[in-house]
Amino acid sequence: MGKRGPTSGEIAQEEQDRKMDNCLFCKIIRGDIPANKIYEDDDIFAFNDINPVAPVHFLLIPKFHIAALTEVEDKHQILLGKMLLLVPRLAKTQGCTDGFRTIINTGHVGGQEVFHLHIHVIGGIERLPVMIRHG
Ligand code: 5GP
Ligand code: ZN
Repeated sequence: MGKRGPTSGEIAQEEQDRKMDNCLFCKIIRGDIPANKIYEDDDIFAFNDINPVAPVHFLLIPKFHIAALTEVEDKHQILLGKMLLLVPRLAKTQGCTDGFRTIINTGHVGGQEVFHLHIHVIGGIERLPVMIRHG
């Protein structure tokens, strides 16, 4: 059998594997780093934030490593929709009975610290401090 070079698909897979090896949230998904998991299915994982800013503060992440919202592609459309649909359902099970706040920090300007796309879901019983003030 003659040896062939790697296909572009194989190169892309290697690149993806390398990113996942070094990513904190990929390690949490794999169970290499412990986390307080609140939900998991084939595509999505959710766990409590280690440093909560409110009584409810969890993170919803895709299992597929996407670094940030700036990196999403058309092929992620169903996954992103699925994540957004899950937000209110999980928020309710976590005790957000009257609303919550969602935040996606993106890149340097957005103050993103972990470069694996995540939706913060923040809430509780008390009204959260105003973040965007008009006028
Ligand atoms: P970012 O600033 O990137 O939007 O948010 C990253 C979030 O991840 C922060 O709220 C931070 O508290 C949380 N975080 C960082 N490291 C860990 C960890 O090891 N475990 C958990 N559960 N959350 C983490
Ligand atoms: Zn990752």
